[in-house]
Amino acid sequence: MTEIYSRVAVIGIGLIGSSVALAARRAGVVGHIVGCDSDADVAPEVKRLGLADSFTTDAVAAVADADLVVMSVPVGAIGALAERIIPAMKPGAVLTDTGSTKRSVIRDVTPHVGDDIHWIPSHPLAGTEHSGPAAGFPDLFNGRYWLILPGGVPEAEVARFESFVTAIGAVAERMDADYHDKVLALTSHLPHLIAYTIVSTAVNLESQLKNDVIRFSASGFRDFTRLAASDPVMWRDVFINNDEAVLEMLQRFSEDLSDLQRAIRWGETDKLESLFHRTREIRRSIIDAGQS
Ligand code: NAP
Repeated sequence: MTEIYSRVAVIGIGLIGSSVALAARRAGVVGHIVGCDSDADVAPEVKRLGLADSFTTDAVAAVADADLVVMSVPVGAIGALAERIIPAMKPGAVLTDTGSTKRSVIRDVTPHVGDDIHWIPSHPLAGTEHSGPAAGFPDLFNGRYWLILPGGVPEAEVARFESFVTAIGAVAERMDADYHDKVLALTSHLPHLIAYTIVSTAVNLESQLKNDVIRFSASGFRDFTRLAASDPVMWRDVFINNDEAVLEMLQRFSEDLSDLQRAIRWGETDKLESLFHRTREIRRSIIDAGQS
């Protein structure tokens, strides 16, 4: 494949950053990759795993001469990072992020963006419960949506960035920030919140019961523990930075839960069965859409 960006800086070499680097290298669409992480201990891992051509802990140095800068750090850290690196970026370069919330990231980054760089917020809908440089793999984005929020960036630059995410396996889709945060509050943030709650409920049980919950966890609980094992800092930042949409979805969820509680109390078998039929259909349509 032809080169799309000749020099790429990936800041934050965790699950997402390392996967971007591996997928871009494999697709042959980038020249030099600079890896950057605030944690100096990541350097040997970057070398061992062949994640980047060079590595630095200095984000300002990392972005010099880069044509594409990918900020893949927790959303609460993106604004301060952007403030530091933007003045050091090459005019005409593209700045993006992979953050799981978009209104807060746009709010925090936009004030620092001048006319000479192209700021394209984005969010790959791909991940696992693992974090850190060794968690990344080049197939992570295969067939997954990568949401792009083009703002006022010239079409040619947006199209170029879309060709990059397509080359690394993702399906590019444009979206606006309000809609993004609402959709993700329901499809990703609320499920994680529920998983954290169920697992902490188990932790609070008396010890014999807790031991058996862990021993017999095959029936459903195990799936929640996978979600609840996700990175604590990343998820702390997601809930704090998408509070409005998460609280709105949580309110709706609580109302539906009360409804279900009432149906169980009053033995409303038809109601329960028809709801479970509808939810099974949703699962089938996700499988049909290739997103399972
Ligand atoms: P991760 O595995 O925890 O990696 C983040 C890395 O960034 C860590 O190595 C962290 O170092 C480093 N870092 C933090 N602040 C930094 C800074 N100011 N400068 C340089 N490096 C910094 O996280 P991730 O899962 O890859 O997530 C990265 C971003 O992608 C987040 O915004 C997240 O919301 C988003 N995202 C995640 C997923 C997912 O499923 N995990 C999916 C889609 C999008 P320390 O550990 O030393 O802090």
